[in-house]
Amino acid sequence: MVPVIALVGRPNVGKSTLFNRLTKTRDAIVAEYAGLTRDRQYGEAKWQGRTYIVIDTGGISGDEEGIDAKMAEQSLQAIEEADAVLFMVDSRAGMTAADQLIAEHLRKRNKRFFLVANKVDTVDPDIARAEFSPLGLGDALPIAAAHGRGINAMLEAALGIFPRDNAELEGEEGEEEIVAEGEEPKRIPGPSEKDGIKIAIIGRPNVGKSTLVNRMLGEERVIVYDQAGTTRDSIYIPFERDEEKYTLIDTAGVRRRGKIFEAVEKFSVVKTLQAIQDANVVIFVMDAREGVVEHDLNLLGFVLETGRALVIALNKWDGMEPGQRDYVKTELERRLMFVDFADIHFISALHGSGVGHLYKSVQASFKSAITRWPTSRLTQILEDAVQEHQPPLVNGRRIKLRYAHLGGANPPLIVIHGNQVEAVPKSYTRYLENTYRRVLRLVGTPIRIEYKGGD
Ligand code: GDP
Ligand code: GDP
Repeated sequence: MVPVIALVGRPNVGKSTLFNRLTKTRDAIVAEYAGLTRDRQYGEAKWQGRTYIVIDTGGISGDEEGIDAKMAEQSLQAIEEADAVLFMVDSRAGMTAADQLIAEHLRKRNKRFFLVANKVDTVDPDIARAEFSPLGLGDALPIAAAHGRGINAMLEAALGIFPRDNAELEGEEGEEEIVAEGEEPKRIPGPSEKDGIKIAIIGRPNVGKSTLVNRMLGEERVIVYDQAGTTRDSIYIPFERDEEKYTLIDTAGVRRRGKIFEAVEKFSVVKTLQAIQDANVVIFVMDAREGVVEHDLNLLGFVLETGRALVIALNKWDGMEPGQRDYVKTELERRLMFVDFADIHFISALHGSGVGHLYKSVQASFKSAITRWPTSRLTQILEDAVQEHQPPLVNGRRIKLRYAHLGGANPPLIVIHGNQVEAVPKSYTRYLENTYRRVLRLVGTPIRIEYKGGD
């Protein structure tokens, strides 16, 4: 499971600054809570090949009334959701009453936390380290979030407490090594015999995820069910259909009791993000009656970032007027252009219509995501594409793209070797991407293209 780290502290200690540095992204997932000036933000981050999720919070000011009370509530919820907490203090401002309040709170929780003294560019780090010892949390880890100082040591401490994910270990079963000349070997994930295709059912509350899970399982032979899990974990349900193995990652918290499945847990962003990370294919469920809302776009953006294969299910298609349907379709085309590689299905989880067809898309997108294309094939496509459309001249010299090989799967990563590759314009990369997609007939998965220069 991907570890979750929450950033907690007073306002202005530098949480957002650190969040941005860790996630390096501007499109963090912002959880929707109406009426807040600052919401909880979720982002994916990577450090030394490890993926983790960061939660940023508005902050706890110690004056918990009105908007501050809401912010504090956000922070407390973030602490609940997290595996570890980075408690940030401001070494320029020194210790405050609010810091003490937060420290007290953290001590009462059964959570791993780390005291982090930010802004050590303004004071002596040694002083910063000791200054907060009255909090009773030991020495602080000194950092300067704005300048990137101390970040490595901090992450080493915070992430060091989590065992590495199996998938990150070398020699994992079902994985294959692909090495090209002068390349670092990379592991390519495959379906493990045991689990089959891992499908995550994702979507906002009330779009019909539980109903869909019930529908998908109700018709099939369920082999194992009701695995123990904490409130934060998704439930993994292996099953078979037409002799194909699948594991459904159920974020809606459907559990079997007797013959019925019942929803026992509420929506959680962390659960959703972890399920996406862990899946091969995401079935993204939306409510046709509500259309595409901002939060859908946020979550879809995250799916895209992780590179998982994607199938979109527009649920509650039953009983919609023809005019309404046309409107929704037009709206989808316009707003979901950034994931136009994904199949869209119009379904009714309640009545079962269209649900069977989802499997076809799941299989097709999974296959596209994990097929091992040989270097000769990828290079041939590259040569043909270059023949048809030369890359531009840079300083009078033409960019040369020589050969391509597969560097990863789910999503497919195509590594292209050549000269002056840092000057390849985005539009040309898009052209290559489209060419690969068309020629290899890839559906339902994003493609990544990476350049290697100097040969
Ligand atoms: P938040 O309210 O805790 O999210 O704090 P912000 O990230 O918005 O930062 C508050 C202020 O502190 C901003 O003006 C930042 O530029 C500044 N800041 C953040 N990190 C550093 C740092 O490492 N050094 C210094 N000198 N200022 C910082
Ligand atoms: P979840 O929170 O995403 O798991 O959503 P649920 O599966 O609990 O469904 C929320 C509500 O939508 C319930 O009242 C369902 O009966 C209803 N619902 C789910 N799927 C459909 C559908 O295909 N058509 C209609 N009309 N209602 C549906």
